[in-house]
Amino acid sequence: MPITYDSLGVRRVINASGRMTALGGVALHPDVVAAMAEAATSNVEIAALKAAAGRKLAEWCGAEAAMVTPGASAGNAIMTAAVVSAGDPYLASKLPAADWPRREILLQTGHAVNYGGSVVQDIRLGGGLPILLGAANMVRESDLTGALSERTAGVLYVQSHHAVQKGMLPLTRAVELAHAAGVPVLLDAAAEEDPRRYVGLGVDLVTYSGGKAFEGPTSGFILGREPLVAACRLQESGMARGMKVGKETIAGLLAAMERYLARDDASERVRQRTIIDTLRAGLGELPATRQSVVQDEAGRAIWRLHLTLDAGALGFSAADLMRDLQAHDPPIYPRGHWAGAGTVALDPRPLADRDVPVIIDAVRAVYARRAAGKDG
Ligand SMILES: *Cc1c(COP(=O)(O)O)cnc(C)c1O
Repeated sequence: MPITYDSLGVRRVINASGRMTALGGVALHPDVVAAMAEAATSNVEIAALKAAAGRKLAEWCGAEAAMVTPGASAGNAIMTAAVVSAGDPYLASKLPAADWPRREILLQTGHAVNYGGSVVQDIRLGGGLPILLGAANMVRESDLTGALSERTAGVLYVQSHHAVQKGMLPLTRAVELAHAAGVPVLLDAAAEEDPRRYVGLGVDLVTYSGGKAFEGPTSGFILGREPLVAACRLQESGMARGMKVGKETIAGLLAAMERYLARDDASERVRQRTIIDTLRAGLGELPATRQSVVQDEAGRAIWRLHLTLDAGALGFSAADLMRDLQAHDPPIYPRGHWAGAGTVALDPRPLADRDVPVIIDAVRAVYARRAAGKDG
């Protein structure tokens, strides 16, 4: 019997949540799958493939150099290892157990996030010693300048919807202050949408996920200045050997990036807007529930439908609605980041047209069933 999700007894889900690792990332475009199948079925000189992939990514993204990684989490660890070992093969061979002073990685406290894994742990995995700056809601310039010393190997900045959005130092200012002290700036831009933006802002190394905005397979990459990317590559025979990327993943990432860079933004935005409008029209008036279309909290060009429930009036909460939808057949996964605050969000990006009526019926059925339960 061929291996399928069905044959394994695992269920397909409707993803109304986003580019979620827990839901298998994105559903790949057939062109990406074709590139992966082609690469997977023959042998190749892997060093030549990696070098060619690095050149392509660097050229497309306006960087001096690039390297493919298994993801942005590995990217954080490898960027850290690169600056902590400073390109020295002997020091690289000791990682992550760096025992020399110049291993501190400075991080604003509001950037010490958990995305499903922890940025602070990524730093440790690369041999860095994380030093948190300021408070969760406020970092002053003096918190950064005061912490910079000859022990500092780098500053890691996190550009993310997960990070605290207020009270942190702006990226450009953090770059100025770090560079004035001769310290490189590493950037976690895992889910960001513009692969050219941050090298342009003077960041020394930046990592992205390939499987988030760019709709590639589970993968990632690092962009940056040539000597630092070379120091990243040095890790491949050291701490990053366990973060190896295969030929099919490299091919899939490149195919996805090529598609992404040639995409028609306007028509994709219209498609997403139509999904939101269809959801709103189909859901109609839901009792004691406010519906609003809200832009992404990190300012990305993403608009989601928010359902904010008055749990007191309804007798059930946003968390209950989430649970009931996940128990639906097929399971439906809304975005639950704000469920604790009473809001269930529907993200149009991963939805296909055929998913929309299923979601509408399921949400209406939850309201009807819960209302009946409350009266009865
Ligand atoms: C998703 C995410 C990561 C991890 O990216 P992977 O490609 O899944 O390894 C790291 N940092 C942030 C801020 C993220 O959102």
